Amino acid sequence: TTILEQGNISIHTENIFPIIKKWLYSDHEIFLRELVSNAVDAIQKMKMVARSGEFSGDMAEPEIILTIDKPKQTLSISDTGIGMTADEVKQYINQVAFSSAEEFVQKYQASADQQIIGHFGLGFYSSFMVAKYVEIDTLSYKEGAQAVKWACDGSTEFKLSESDRATQGTTIKLTLQDEELEYLEPHRIRQLVKTYCDFMPFPIKLQVIEKEDEDAQAPEQINRQIAPWKESPSNLSREDYLEFYRYLYPFQEEPLLWVHLNTDYPFVVNGILYFPKLKPDVDVSKGQIKLFCNQVFVSDNCEEVIPQFLMPLRGAIDSLDIPLNVSRSFLQSDRTVRRIADYIAKKVGDRLKELYRDNREEYIRCWQDLGTFVKFGSLNDEKFKKQVEDIIIYRTTANLSDAAPKVEIQTQEGDVWQDSSNGQSNTVDGKSYTTLQEYLERNKERHENRVFYCNDEVSQATYVQLHTSQGIEVLFMDSFIDSHFASFLEREYSHIKFSRVDSELDETLIDKNKSEEIVDPTTNQTRSEQIKTLFQKALDKPKLIIRTEALKGEDAASTPPAMVLLPEQLRRMQEMTA
Ligand code: ADP
Ligand code: MG
Repeated sequence: TTILEQGNISIHTENIFPIIKKWLYSDHEIFLRELVSNAVDAIQKMKMVARSGEFSGDMAEPEIILTIDKPKQTLSISDTGIGMTADEVKQYINQVAFSSAEEFVQKYQASADQQIIGHFGLGFYSSFMVAKYVEIDTLSYKEGAQAVKWACDGSTEFKLSESDRATQGTTIKLTLQDEELEYLEPHRIRQLVKTYCDFMPFPIKLQVIEKEDEDAQAPEQINRQIAPWKESPSNLSREDYLEFYRYLYPFQEEPLLWVHLNTDYPFVVNGILYFPKLKPDVDVSKGQIKLFCNQVFVSDNCEEVIPQFLMPLRGAIDSLDIPLNVSRSFLQSDRTVRRIADYIAKKVGDRLKELYRDNREEYIRCWQDLGTFVKFGSLNDEKFKKQVEDIIIYRTTANLSDAAPKVEIQTQEGDVWQDSSNGQSNTVDGKSYTTLQEYLERNKERHENRVFYCNDEVSQATYVQLHTSQGIEVLFMDSFIDSHFASFLEREYSHIKFSRVDSELDETLIDKNKSEEIVDPTTNQTRSEQIKTLFQKALDKPKLIIRTEALKGEDAASTPPAMVLLPEQLRRMQEMTA
């Protein structure tokens, strides 16, 4: 085919402008986040320039001042950053969707802790969502630079003029639209700063001019400024972590434990994730982890970024590699985002193993909450299951108070954590816990690859006692997730037979006691057999297995002489039809 014409697509600013202003962001309040992040970027850039040795003057104290002028109906955002020359204003402001960020980062080699938030060159124009008139007053750090003023009423026309500004930095002054006067309310600004800008790395201060010709009061810092997740874990104490948790989730119970994420390669992820106590009334399907991009709050909802099973966790995740302004469906299919999700899951698994290895008692104490989480994760994520399967524990009827655990834990890096239990007890408050592996190992001579479990401690108490009196160890699988988990285990470990305590009891397991029973010479049956015959007649259910035990010693009085046990198969069929 012949090419008829080749050329550049032209954009008519007057047409695209309303689209940018109206629909770029669904929420008007975002403008403050954008303008404050520009101010943060400007200060960050100034620091980079200073570090490069290109600037030898005195650097102004980094700060961002928000000024509400009620009589004039203006809101100003002022920074002590890099400023702009007239040429830069023409280049970066007059050209919509032209960002200086990339160029700048290339020239000054931003390090991991000095990152530029800007990216698309669109943020500045969000100011027109709330302002009918926007002015920029700026003085560049560059030697001999002339301060300039830029002004625009939201049309495609602007005015650029000389300014008499004497201090380096930039002030963006918004004259608010009549419908947007809420941004003159100090509490509204505080609320927005707290939501979006709380952890930005420089002080953000607020001052208010209430009446005409009145001076503003001294500006007051309204952001927290310090983002603990950016700190090195070795600099943070237990109290620091707890304090941060209370800050994010006030009036909540203390978290059980936390994981500090911190990686630079192959993607940048920082964060602190907490395991809360899982209350039945907490809706864990709604994520509570706060997502940040370079300390700028993005959303309360990380569903796309972290695996579903980690949803009960809380805390903050900060990643430069999670694109800020893109659609949710894009996030889900993004490869980096998926790798970040895997990374987070792995870190969480490692943290649990570490606790299991180093502080067994604490692990056991937290197990009620952690267990639900770990089992849920195992049900939902194959990789996570592999990682944690050796540290899933069950309460057991065995007394393990002096048995040291003998388990080697393989990390994904391939190194093996030796048995470093240091005599750590598997018993807390008189209750012992064991892994499935340890259970099988302990009981392999008596009943190989067979697990006896109880899923309702109260209603199955006599059955449990029946087993323990025979010296059979029973595991408790009685949390709400265990009914799913037990069938999952059977699928996973098909060579193991799981028998609930009120199901059949293997004949061979009770032979020992049986032999001690006296045989009635008239019927030629033991007492057990007699009772069994009796029950079978009465119940007319040949499939039922009935077993009685002649018990000796102190248990005898509290144990019923006979019990009806349903074969596992039959029991399950009944449960399914019920
Ligand atoms: P982005 O932040 O994605 O680059 P913006 O539309 O927010 O896009 O800003 C466009 C450009 O304007 C920035 O890249 C920067 O060069 C310049 N700019 C905006 N605000 C300031 C400021 N407060 N100080 C210095 N330069 C600024
Ligand atoms: Mg920006």
